[in-house]
Amino acid sequence: MIVIVTGVSGTGKTTVGNLLAEKLHLPFFDGDHFHPGANIEKMSQGHPLDDIDRVPWLQILADKLANSEISGGAVLACSGLKESYRQKLNLSENLRWIHLIGERGLIWDRMLARKNHYMKAGMLDSQFATWEEPDYGLKLSIDQTPEEMLEIAIEYLIRNPLKMSIGVVGMGVMGKSLALNLAEKGVPVSLYNRYVTGKEEAVAQKVMEANPDFANLRAFEDIRNFIDSLLVPRKILLMIPAGAAIDSQLETLIPLLEPGDLVIDGGNSFYKDSERRVVRMKEAGLHFLPMGVSGGEEGARKGPSIMPGGNREGYALVEDFLGRISAKDQNGKPCVTYVGPGGSGHFIKMVHNSIEYGEMQVLAELVHFLRFGFGCSADQISDILTDWGNGDLKSFLLEITADLLLFKENGELLLDKILDQAGQKGTGAWSLNTALEYGIPYSPLAEAVNARGVSGEKAMRVALSKTFHHEFAPVNESLEAWLPKLKSAYGLARIINHEVGFRLMKTVSDAQDWQLNFSEIARIWTNGCIIRSGLMEKISANYSDDKSFFEIAGVKEQVIQNRGDLAAVVGLGLTHGFALPVMSAGINYLLGRITADSSASVIQAQRDYFGAHTYQLKEDLSGQGYHTHWTKSSP
Ligand code: NAP
Repeated sequence: MIVIVTGVSGTGKTTVGNLLAEKLHLPFFDGDHFHPGANIEKMSQGHPLDDIDRVPWLQILADKLANSEISGGAVLACSGLKESYRQKLNLSENLRWIHLIGERGLIWDRMLARKNHYMKAGMLDSQFATWEEPDYGLKLSIDQTPEEMLEIAIEYLIRNPLKMSIGVVGMGVMGKSLALNLAEKGVPVSLYNRYVTGKEEAVAQKVMEANPDFANLRAFEDIRNFIDSLLVPRKILLMIPAGAAIDSQLETLIPLLEPGDLVIDGGNSFYKDSERRVVRMKEAGLHFLPMGVSGGEEGARKGPSIMPGGNREGYALVEDFLGRISAKDQNGKPCVTYVGPGGSGHFIKMVHNSIEYGEMQVLAELVHFLRFGFGCSADQISDILTDWGNGDLKSFLLEITADLLLFKENGELLLDKILDQAGQKGTGAWSLNTALEYGIPYSPLAEAVNARGVSGEKAMRVALSKTFHHEFAPVNESLEAWLPKLKSAYGLARIINHEVGFRLMKTVSDAQDWQLNFSEIARIWTNGCIIRSGLMEKISANYSDDKSFFEIAGVKEQVIQNRGDLAAVVGLGLTHGFALPVMSAGINYLLGRITADSSASVIQAQRDYFGAHTYQLKEDLSGQGYHTHWTKSSP
């Protein structure tokens, strides 16, 4: 999207160009700033430039425009006095001309009023003599305010639309927010939403109308017109529900697109569906990126964490755009990286969400225990969590939990009015299924999914609580004495959640030969996403494929020091009637993982006893199976 504002000196090209650039969210270039030194010197001595002088200057501008086009476009102010000069800049069909036209007297007065400009006012005559009035583009009279000129220019661009750099399908929570984020970062966007008579009409148009500050949006509900509005190779981001909607949308798009075009699925698709779609799209000659996005509505609008996988060439087409809209890590690097082939981007997003489930559940368990066990008020718990979050335990989820504990409606805590039933949409359960498929222990994060399932059975819980007279018992212990233990238990439960998720990712990456880079994955999760935290920063800095997650620096010390506290807190909670599914599964899992001599000898003996399954001996690790007639043990 290139707009060139021309006119003789003094017509206000810079003013109008800047206003246009702001409205189109594009960079503005003043052509005068790109003159080679020799030209500036010549002009400042009062000598007009000739055609030969202008050749290198126009080449610089043409190169600048060509580069800008790839990154979304630009607005250029350039005198463009002769047709031959303009043709040197007329490199793309995706370019519009706005020519500022004014009376010599008006311009003369304006020029005399200008300070610090190397062009002498007396040179205006030479400019007028050189000016060849074009017979194309918008001729915009300067005899009006800059704002009026801007309005006319924008109307002209709407009537003569430019091709857009990317298209977003689905104007729901995420699609709308990502589209506005792209537009704000200088990427012109076409918006599309399906049309459903009487239900979903002019949805994209309404998004555009609600955002009048963005003149770099176009809205469609006809898919062909939407596709025609895009620069080739076309780039299309789908933000629609996972599952059948994606397959059906891809099948609609495939015949309308050309080889080399790119489609991105930014929803929460199951990674095995994405693997299948990667193959389908490759057969169709199209680039395809299955891409995880995390950060919710606000993240999508202001800077999400982005996890694209699939076709690397396709990634190259949008790497710059994704980098611009993503969150930035503590070193200012974009929280986006090419994750790996196939469905790996959606796979890591799935595990991200599974860790998120675990992190949310641990906080829910702690808040509940503090409130109804220790008898803390919501305000008090908020203060405790805020205090923890100001240190090593910093995390987005901790922060919002501290916040929501303060939220009151008509003087009453909103939390107390919210039904205690949590649903789950897929990623948590998919992760658990994947862990089972790969034989990876997953109990802490599995418990986060199960806890939501148990919460869903509200009527049964109420009935059973009456049958069994279940009530929370007050904890008659000093909160002050227990707070450090609660804090370290929370920290360790979180480490365990992350270990479980990273272990699943490593196992599947090895099995699929994806060669995922886990410190890089942790890095893109340090900001923008829901599980961003100080812990993630530690993981990013210290992760190593060569050692167990529990042994990495910053983690190992807590496993050593805090496991007694996690066990004690779980014990205290359970004995006072509190279900602490993720924390208790966490300590069980950890103790199991660090136990050298486990109870599995008993299991093996039992299996052999009732089913002659055989067992191996500690003294013979050759794989040899032994069988015993257990009822006849020797005296
Ligand atoms: P949403 O608000 O429900 O919006 C869904 C969009 O998809 C709407 O524009 C809807 O259009 C459109 N749509 C629904 N069914 C369709 C179909 N069969 N064909 C074409 N378009 C269809 O959902 P969302 O929260 O933006 O989520 C979009 C995707 O991002 C999902 O995969 C979601 O899991 C994922 N995601 C969401 C979040 C989040 O925090 N919300 C975070 C990360 C990822 P109509 O208006 O016509 O129904």
